[in-house]
Amino acid sequence: MTTKSQFDVVIAGTGNAALSAAISASEQGAGVLMLEKGPKSKRGGNSFFTDGAIRFAYNDIEGIKNVVDGFNAEDARSIEVPEYKHAHFHNDLMKVTQGKSNPELAEHLISNSCDTIQWMKKQGVSFVMNENQYFEKEGKKIFWGGLPVKTERKGIGLVEALFAKAEEKGVEIWYEAPGVRLEQTDDRITGIIVNKDDQETLVKCKSVILACGGFEANKEKRMKHLGDEWENAIVRGSEYNTGDGIRMAAEAGAAQAGQYDGCHAHTTDFNAPKVGDYSKPGDIYKKSSYPVGLIVNQEGRRFVDEGADFRNYTYAKYGKETLKQTNHKAFQLYDSKVRPMLRKEYELEEATVIKADSLDELAVKMEVDKSNFLETIENYNHAVQDGEYNPSIKDGKSTKGVSPEKTNWALKFDEAPFYAYPVTCGITFTFGAIKSNNRAEALDTSGEAVKGLYVAGEMVGELFYHNYPGGSGLMSGSVFGRTAGISAAEYIHSMAAIE
Ligand SMILES: Cc1cc2nc3c(=O)[nH]c(=O)nc-3n(C[C@H](O)[C@H](O)[C@H](O)COP(=O)(O)OP(=O)(O)OC[C@H]3O[C@@H](n4cnc5c(N)ncnc54)[C@H](O)[C@@H]3O)c2cc1C
Repeated sequence: MTTKSQFDVVIAGTGNAALSAAISASEQGAGVLMLEKGPKSKRGGNSFFTDGAIRFAYNDIEGIKNVVDGFNAEDARSIEVPEYKHAHFHNDLMKVTQGKSNPELAEHLISNSCDTIQWMKKQGVSFVMNENQYFEKEGKKIFWGGLPVKTERKGIGLVEALFAKAEEKGVEIWYEAPGVRLEQTDDRITGIIVNKDDQETLVKCKSVILACGGFEANKEKRMKHLGDEWENAIVRGSEYNTGDGIRMAAEAGAAQAGQYDGCHAHTTDFNAPKVGDYSKPGDIYKKSSYPVGLIVNQEGRRFVDEGADFRNYTYAKYGKETLKQTNHKAFQLYDSKVRPMLRKEYELEEATVIKADSLDELAVKMEVDKSNFLETIENYNHAVQDGEYNPSIKDGKSTKGVSPEKTNWALKFDEAPFYAYPVTCGITFTFGAIKSNNRAEALDTSGEAVKGLYVAGEMVGELFYHNYPGGSGLMSGSVFGRTAGISAAEYIHSMAAIE
């Protein structure tokens, strides 16, 4: 094994969390090396593939003005953004995680979210209003769901800006150089072994930040922790997040923590690439307009309440439900009334769509059980209740007497032409990872820090359970990445003082 020169901090990964950590550690004067498992053309991790939606507690419109580029008085007049304070973010996080999110980590994420997004802006990241998060009403754009901001040019814009800043700060980056295991001396991290040019190289360092994702791209680990049905799930992002970081941390004494049998997943085009295609980023395959439509399986039956909540709060769950259906397949159905309301992804040439002028024809083209399908639609249409339809709020316009009930936004499915979009489940990231604290220190089973070891992003366990509020994956990477950089630099300074 060869030994390379000493760095202050080595960071495994080049996604949002790793880049945030690298910039933050450099700001503190540390010398930083980043390791990327893939080639340069496939850098940036899941962060590269994102839609760029990012959640933060902005309080009121003033908080948005400070972040969104070129926000002017005309913009302020033409939009309505409900306030979103610390308590709103906290409620959303606790609601979707069923109260299980670790309070220390949750508090750190939320209370640093506003400051961190402004820090990101200083690093060169541009933000725009999130065009997927509003409805038009009386000439105004009404934003909903606490997610009015996204990064300009989605995840691509985010990682490009952060790479530019990291490179400007002199951060060294090695590609096709996965971290393999950690070196410890006297209970302290003293290096990381890297697989470079087909040989193991020991890189000496004073601390390591693991920001190398979950195990979503590892078939065996998916099956072991999530269940056999996950064997062939589409991987929506990086092919490199195979759980290496979790293994390395655990071998070094860190405790595994969080929901290992849980993951984020999304209803995804049935014909999407099996792993993220770097030439097709921007999250173009997701299909999440179903709250205004219907979902049926190959047996021609509905199996979820499409209108249980806004899509941000249900798409992860419904992705998983789709995986349980025959051939892991379902169809989202929209008639001509609601089709203009669908998100942009439905218009792309990459979208698989079946169009028909009658329900009979639709059933034949979808190759579903026709008599069940026609019965499902007839019963559903019959059960739709009167009431005002309003997609910007949970309008309570429901069905009665069909199971599952559609509890909001129920309109009859009766205006041709009809559209069916075949969907399956795409895994986004896994929830179970490493135990850590609000200093991003990796902790052992007794809650003691593993000296010199930090985790960030998807490697933080105990933050998300069952689901996550959309946009908080990126914010978690930014907050804990930035924190890890600061903590690692402080640790190095404290070591220098002792030596
Ligand atoms: C299609 C899609 C859309 C999404 N949209 C959003 C969104 O709009 N908003 C949001 O908040 N979240 C979104 N997410 C979730 C979000 O991507 C993650 O929460 C976040 O990007 C995780 O950042 P990270 O830095 O922890 O991991 P990643 O960005 O995945 O980075 C992990 C890095 O580690 C590298 N790596 C792995 N193993 C090793 C190793 N052994 N050595 C060195 N490097 C290694 C990988 O190659 C990669 O570079 C989306 C995810 C996907 C897949």
